[in-house]
Formats: sequence, structure tokens, C-alpha cells
Amino acid sequence: MNTRHFYINGTWTSPTAGTDLDVINPSTEEVCATISLGGEADTNAAVAAAKQAFGSWSLSTKAERLELLNSILAVYQSRSTDMAATISREMGAPISMSQAAQSGAGSSHIQAFINALTTFDFDRDLRPNTPKDRILYEPIGVCGLITPWNWPMNQIALKVVPALASGCTMVLKPSELSPLSGLLFADILHEAGVPAGVFNLVNGNGPGVGTQLSGHPDVAMISFTGSSRAGIAISKNAADTLKRVSLELGGKGANIVFADAPDEAVAQGVARCFNNTGQSCNAPTRMLVERSRYDEAVAQAKAQAEKTQVDTASKEGTHIGPLVSKAQFDKVQGLIEQGINTDKARLVAGGLGRPDGIDRGYFVKPTIFADCHNDMIIMREEIFGPVLSMMPFDSEDEAVAIANDTNYGLTNYIQTTDGEKANRVARQLRSGMVDMNGQARSSGSPFGGYKQSGNGREGGEWGLEEFLEVKAVGGWFRNDA
Ligand code: NAD
Repeated sequence: MNTRHFYINGTWTSPTAGTDLDVINPSTEEVCATISLGGEADTNAAVAAAKQAFGSWSLSTKAERLELLNSILAVYQSRSTDMAATISREMGAPISMSQAAQSGAGSSHIQAFINALTTFDFDRDLRPNTPKDRILYEPIGVCGLITPWNWPMNQIALKVVPALASGCTMVLKPSELSPLSGLLFADILHEAGVPAGVFNLVNGNGPGVGTQLSGHPDVAMISFTGSSRAGIAISKNAADTLKRVSLELGGKGANIVFADAPDEAVAQGVARCFNNTGQSCNAPTRMLVERSRYDEAVAQAKAQAEKTQVDTASKEGTHIGPLVSKAQFDKVQGLIEQGINTDKARLVAGGLGRPDGIDRGYFVKPTIFADCHNDMIIMREEIFGPVLSMMPFDSEDEAVAIANDTNYGLTNYIQTTDGEKANRVARQLRSGMVDMNGQARSSGSPFGGYKQSGNGREGGEWGLEEFLEVKAVGGWFRNDA
């Protein structure tokens, strides 16, 4: 595999006029690979290959597509160690976490889509008593898939696998900050036997390949995960061709800790916020604590932050790694600085600069702010670093109001031993997902947000429906009638 090549129409292809871009290992700040950023001719060639392949792939049977997904899963699993090392190198996830969670997300999503595809009915009656009304689910066409760097294989699998499963063809543009896992995934798909043209990969940046895909007349749909800024730009650019745009954007999740929460709730909430060095759209970054437990919770959060080890990504262990890039390091430092000087929140752990003893790499200090209020910048902006903001509340209604007072609506969290209270609050939270008492949602459940967190759902049958058109047919002929 040549990292400067693109995967177009089943072969590794030289760029037409590629510009080189170095991929930086964020633990060392050293170049770990060089890729090409594609141009319009590369994008057009990939879209043309996908358009050509749509003719036959859109007519493939469910059994054929299931066989292909099973083959992809087997090849993926055989290369999962390589995948974990690649992700760790390109975006800084510590190797143990990269193996279990980053690389692991790929195989679990492939398996979940095999399950969803197995039971999905593409051809059904409207209702039991309407034999002449038929509902057909059909692939939408050529899809442009644009993914971020924070959970590279998680996002790629959540888009590529359902697109394949629903009979679509596609062009993937991975993040230019984490392109190596995407290249490896293309190699896996090739080995698994994906037909030529069905899956294509072109590396590039937002203003280049990203914009070319979102404006392309032969692309029927864009599925995007990343920043609100890019989501807005893509939506505007896609409007002229009226393509479907599915967006998974940021979040500013509240973690509501009631006084009756289990003792470990605060430490778990901090760890969850810092997971992946805080670079997760669903991170619980605003911890709201019932006042009677608030001082104790601040002390627990401080202790947990001080216990959090920060170290190089290649080392095994439970530490957190660096942020992905210099730009992200500067952005997080800027927000910590605003938390201290503009918001005047109480800094109880961490703060500006690298952790003691580290002078290289995009490492930041695990940071806790207390006594925040919801107008503060650090309570409103998605920081995307290991930074937690804490605030007290006095009543259930107030906690719900604070949690909902945000432009985002991705994931909120509830900690209480009162099950009825938990369910009652879950219903009132304006978010696509609610996690209660550390219970993870099962694989195959829908992932996506309300409000400015996006408009689509990824995973399971909902993730398949994203890539499908619905056709209603009247006068359906039945030879059993
Ligand atoms: P980004 O949104 O700029 O990049 C994500 C992907 O979109 C990349 O593949 C990029 O090349 C592409 N892209 C960028 N601009 C585009 C455009 N105009 N048209 C088409 N494609 C475009 O993210 P970033 O700049 O790397 O990160 C900035 C901030 O975004 C982060 O600090 C974080 O807050 C947020 N973010 C959120 C998520 C998430 O999962 N919700 C993921 C990454 C970043």
C-alpha cells in the first residue's frame, strides 16, 4: 500500500495532481507518513467509478451483501492489531485503548450491521390488510462519506458498512489528520472482495475533495461527521444539487449527578469525559451535581483528574494520550485560558501548558473547573480536550433546564439510584441519547443528535435507513392473491 495513492475502481491509483501532506504522530510531533491531497480530477474519477458500479451493486441480493459483510469482518479481525497500531500512531489513542475501543469499534459495527441487515425487510406490505400496496426500500445512489479524526474507524465503519449493506456505492474521504486507518480499511475491503467501483477512497481536505463531493451532481447523499462549521458548509454546498445530507456533529453533554448517585459516579464521569483525551462528541463535559453532594463531588473530581496519567500513545496502559494536532492543542489551551481569565471559573485541577515532565507532543493537563454557570464559554463550547466543567443544582427541574440550555443535543447522562426519577428525567432531556448509571447502550442502537448536534442516526436499522429511498407502489401484483 502506497500512502500517496487513492483507491479508485478497485485499484490503487496515483493522484492526478496531488499535493503532499505529512501525517504527524501527535505523541512525538514527527512525520509518520506522507499522503496526497486529491484534486477535482481524482474526485471525479472516484465518483464516476462509483456511478458505474451502482448499476450492478444496487441490484445485488441481500444474501450477496451479507456474504460480503461477513468476509469483511473476517479480514478486519485478522488485521485488527495492525489497525490499532495505525490509529494510535496517526491520532494518538493509547495503544491498549486503541486495540479495545478504536479498532474494536470497527468490528463491533460490522457485526451489528450484519445483524441489522439479516432482519431488515427491503420489500414489505404497507399494512397486513393492504395487499396491493408495496413498500420497497432502495439504495439512494452514490454516497460521499466524510469522516473525522477522533474515532476514525468507528466513523468509517458507521458509514461504509451500511452504505454497502443497503446497495449503495461510495467515495470515502477520511480526515487528512488520520488518513492511514482509512487506507488500511480500503486494503481490507479489497482483500474481502468488494467489487471494483463499489467502494472508493480519495484523500483530501475540506476545501478540496470534501467540497467537491458535497457539490457533485452525481453524488446523491453526503454522510458527514465532524465540526458544526464543516456541517454548515457542507449543507450549504449540497443545497444546489438538493442531495440528502446526514450530519453527526458536536455535543456538550450534561452529566446529572443526583445526591443519591452511587459513590463512584463522579470518578466514572470524569474518566468518561477524559476518555480519548476528551476528543469525543458524546463526552459528558458538563457535570451538574446536586448541591448537597457538590463539594464532595468537586474533591472527588480533583482526585480523579490528578490520578489520570498522561503518556505517549505507543505505551500500553490506561493513561490518556496527546490531542490529535497542534491546532487542537492551541484550541484547547485557548479555551482553558478563557475558562481562567474570561469566565473566571475556579480551576481545581490541571490548567495551562503540558503536564509536568513532558516537553514534546500535543499533551495537555487533565483539567477540572468548578463553580461554573451556563453562560460561561467553557460550558457552551465543545472544547474537545480533557476538560470538565462542574456546576451545582438545587432541584430536578433546574438540572433538566441547565442540561437542555445548549445548542447541542447529542448525549446526556444521569446518575441516581432512583429508577423512576432516572426515567422521568431521561424523557425530558432534549438529546438523541441518554446514558444512565454507566449503562452503555447496546450495539445496533441509533447514534445521533437533536438540535445542532445533527440530523441523522447511525447504527442498526436506523443506520441502514439513512442510505435508502422508500418507494411506495400501488396495484402490486400478487400471484398468491
Ligand atoms: P472538521 O469538521 O473540520 O473535519 C472533519 C472532516 O470534515 C475532515 O474529513 C475534513 O477534511 C472535512 N471537512 C472540513 N471542512 C469541510 C468542508 N467545508 N466540506 C467538506 N468537508 C470538510 O473538524 P476539525 O477541524 O478537524 O475539528 C474542529 C472541531 O470540530 C473540533 O475541535 C471538535 O470540536 C469538532 N469535531 C467534532 C467531531 C465529532 O465527532 N462531532 C469530530 C471532529 C471534530
